[in-house]
Formats: sequence, C-alpha cells, structure tokens
Amino acid sequence: MANRPRAFVREMGLRDGLQSIRTIMPTATKLDWIAREAACGVPEIEVASFVPARLLPQMADAAQVVPGARKVPELMVSVLVPNMRGAQDAIAAGAMKLNYVMSVSESHNMANVRRPVSESLADFGRIVEFCKGLDPTRRPIVAGGLATAFGCTIEGPIPEERSRELAAQLVELGADEIIVADTVGYGNPAAVRRIFAGVLAEAGELPVAAHFHDTRGVGLANVVAALDQGIVRFDASLGGLGGCPYAPGASGNIVMEDLVFLLETMGYATGVDLTKLIEVRKVVQASLADEQKQFHGALSQAGLPKNYAHV
Ligand code: ZN
Repeated sequence: MANRPRAFVREMGLRDGLQSIRTIMPTATKLDWIAREAACGVPEIEVASFVPARLLPQMADAAQVVPGARKVPELMVSVLVPNMRGAQDAIAAGAMKLNYVMSVSESHNMANVRRPVSESLADFGRIVEFCKGLDPTRRPIVAGGLATAFGCTIEGPIPEERSRELAAQLVELGADEIIVADTVGYGNPAAVRRIFAGVLAEAGELPVAAHFHDTRGVGLANVVAALDQGIVRFDASLGGLGGCPYAPGASGNIVMEDLVFLLETMGYATGVDLTKLIEVRKVVQASLADEQKQFHGALSQAGLPKNYAHV
C-alpha cells in the first residue's frame, strides 16, 4: 500500500518499565535490548531516566546506557529528565532528546519531583535556554511532558483544561514537542478526544505524542481515539513491561507489539518489522526471569494472523 500515513512509536520499557520492577537489569543487557529493538525499526527509545540513583537504582547506569545506545545506527536516543540537573547530566552523557516530565496534578508533581508546577515550568524554561546556548552538534531536542493529564492517584480527577493551559505554557517556553501522559491509566477515549483537541489547538505545528498506560484495559482504545484527533506518536513498552506503583499486579504501558499491530492493520506505516519485534520480546522476557507476571499482551499469545500484510 503506497503512501500510507506515518506513525511513530517510542519504546518506554527501558525507563518506565524497568523503573517499576524490582530486578535491576545489567547495563550490557539493556544495550542488547536497545540494539535488537532498534534493528526492528523502532525509531526512538527512551533509554534511561536521569534522577538520583538513590531514588531509582534501576536507572543508576544512565550515564553509561546513553553513550552505548548512541552507537546504534539511526536511533533517536531519548531520556527522561525531571529538572536542570538531570538535563545537564543527560546532555553530558550524549542524550539526543530530553523528555522533560512534570505533572498536571499539583499534588502529584509535589510527590514526584518535590516542587510546585510553577517551579517545574520555570525550570523547563531554563533548560530550553541552556540548550539554546549549546553547540548545535550537542543540542538535544527538548520535549515537554504532561503527566497525570487524565487524573491522578492523589487528587483523582484533574480539570481537563489544565492540560491545555500547561501545554500552551510549554509551547511558549520553547518546547520542541509535547507529550501528554495518562500516567496511571485513568483515561478513556472520550476524555482522550477532548484533552488532545485542546493540546493540539495550542501546539500548532509542534509534534504531540500520547503516552498511555493499559492499567484498566482501555489503552489501545485510547490510541484509536488519539488517532482520530490526528495524533501519530505513541509511547509503549515491549510486553507492556512496567506496572503501576499504586496498583500491584496491574498492567503497565500499552504493549508495543499490540500497538504496532493496531497501527499497521489500520493502514499506518510504523517502519517496524513485527515478526522480529515479537522475537525481541521473547529475548527481553527471558532476561527478566523473576518478572514474568509483568509481561502482558495479546499478539505474543495469539501470533500474527495469516492475513497480516508484512511491509
Ligand atoms: Zn508512563
């Protein structure tokens, strides 16, 4: 099928996934995962989070993972950063893209990054300015992420217009991309349509990405709702790795293999070889022997249907 619309998937398992399980994956195993998944055609991988190692021992090797991942051809190596210190460390390690996280929920932002939303916004502005001062060869793309856009475990519902207001401020401060996240799986397709319509109205030409969790089983339905709004950038993790710290046993990010299947069969070109991707999932799952309950997904159980058209 010629001229299919492009869709972009971003792997979250190395960060969102690994930070929510007990096992600490060795650096070499992380780099093997990154290389294998990139070889399937996944264009961007969030490889680490630059937070203090005492808070997240699973991410203590972030400064080693980034340069290792940079050796993988044609891969956009992105990282999560919560503040200027994290941004500077990430840039020193060679990160190509900073996914800055702040919460729409004031209480969640205080719990997660220990400061009010206004201070997170101000720090985002400082990071953008800092990056502008860098040599262009070292200057990362800076994405502004809005966590808990659909509700939060502390405050419950969050007014939907807050996401639009904060997106407008991130755009004003110089974001290169906006990411809207349903951090704890509170979203639904109707809310997705409303919130993304608001954010898109502020984002103009900037890319807008969707980060959904499948905590309550509506992750892929939310993807379809976002597609209806014109969103074509989605976060997911291989095998849905990563639970929810507030709901033990709950599923985590939407499942990468299932997401690629959905997008491809709906006519979008992801550039991802799904047969190879299912094999990589097996390798990653085997490398986390004590975490088998953390892996989810339909395609890995059922296999590809005979009518699946390989690209
Ligand atoms: Zn997440």
